[in-house]
Amino acid sequence: MRVVIVGAGPAGLTVAETLREYDRSVEIVLLSREPFPPYAPPAMADYFLTGRRETLFWKGEDACRRLEVDYRQNVRVSQVRPAQKQLNLEDGASLSYDRLVIASGSSLYAPLPGRELPGVYDFKSLTAAHSLVEEGKRRPGGKALIVGAGFIGVEIAILLRELGLVVTVIELSDRVMPRMLDAETAEIALSVMRERGIEVRLGTKAAGFTGKRKAEAVALESGDGLQADVYVAATGVKPHVEFLAGSGLDVGWGVRVDNYLRTNVPDVYAAGDVAETFDRLTGERYVHAIFPNAVAQAQVAARNLLGLETPYPGSENMNSLKHLGLPVMAVGAAEGEEEWRWRQGNALRKIFLRDGRIVGFRLTGDVSTAGLYRALMLARADVRTLGKRLLDPRVSAGALALAAASGRLDLRLSA
Ligand SMILES: Cc1cc2nc3c(=O)[nH]c(=O)nc-3n(C[C@H](O)[C@H](O)[C@H](O)COP(=O)(O)OP(=O)(O)OC[C@H]3O[C@@H](n4cnc5c(N)ncnc54)[C@H](O)[C@@H]3O)c2cc1C
Repeated sequence: MRVVIVGAGPAGLTVAETLREYDRSVEIVLLSREPFPPYAPPAMADYFLTGRRETLFWKGEDACRRLEVDYRQNVRVSQVRPAQKQLNLEDGASLSYDRLVIASGSSLYAPLPGRELPGVYDFKSLTAAHSLVEEGKRRPGGKALIVGAGFIGVEIAILLRELGLVVTVIELSDRVMPRMLDAETAEIALSVMRERGIEVRLGTKAAGFTGKRKAEAVALESGDGLQADVYVAATGVKPHVEFLAGSGLDVGWGVRVDNYLRTNVPDVYAAGDVAETFDRLTGERYVHAIFPNAVAQAQVAARNLLGLETPYPGSENMNSLKHLGLPVMAVGAAEGEEEWRWRQGNALRKIFLRDGRIVGFRLTGDVSTAGLYRALMLARADVRTLGKRLLDPRVSAGALALAAASGRLDLRLSA
């Protein structure tokens, strides 16, 4: 059997790895339109700052050789023809498959006029990130303007600042990372960003990028214009689905899949940032474009593809911010019927509850209780008897975990 995987990001590589775990004989062809070994995008900023390769090439630079995967770089799939079980490649060649996995990920984008002008950069792939960083390094002391203060926009701002650029971020909302953080946590993150010398303009709406042959400014709805040397469009991420036009695959925002990561077309699966799955807690259809979801989906898709029937429990809404200098963790909803909070300076623990159950939490500073809160949330445990001791920094995460696991919720404070 030949399995072809489109995209060698965390999802694509995990599909290959999982297939190999169960089956030594399956032929695995992994396609990447990029010229690198499979890498982990969350490690890119660290790689550009420190040169460290181990976390970037997270399964080792020789992963494909070890897994006996036929890895083809610089290969872009241009069309999928399920009736013939074939793919068309951009160089004119075609490739047949028995099973196909779409793991083509996503790009940063902003739905703004002028988005395609040269000088407007992406940072979602290593190829794109190299272009941005090289341009940034050519302009020490130059100006960078990032449209969108989502978590990737913020991570890019920190990286460019570290590289010596003068960085401004504009954000439509009244807070940074509005989809990830509640107002209080966002306010803490914002103060740290400003301490690091990043200018953040909230409540500022971009109308588009302007310029003739290249981007020369960002026009604001207010009528003003902001000029910089480097621009980044980062208001969201958009799944790579263009090459699926005419394939008959059900595509909404991403590729729609069922509980087994199957698409509507036989023998075609999808996983990772390109897949439109459902939220584990709310059941809502969504693309939760984060690393752990991509890996979990890939494992499930690979098992199902081999006939090892495995339902997908749903995606999780969680994220962490690295490199800010202050750990920030966001999991689940950012509001509830009830809110428990503890704060000391920039250290915050905040839990959102509905009907005595955790539906989300935000942490800054010490994030060591994240694993426990998440486990209680996923178990839908009634935490009312634990009460606000859950937030008390004098109670160790370990003691809480033990108490929660044993059902002995009458914790004493360990002063
Ligand atoms: C800067 C940054 C920081 C991040 N930080 C975090 C974090 O802290 N925590 C977290 O959970 N997540 C984080 N993420 C998100 C995480 O990286 C993604 O969720 C994850 O990479 C998704 O993996 P994927 O394999 O689905 O897609 P991708 O990583 O996007 O990989 C898809 C690959 O497919 C290739 N491809 C696309 N179309 C084609 C085609 N037609 N033919 C051939 N190849 C194709 C692409 O070029 C790409 O190499 C971060 C992302 C970025 C960019």
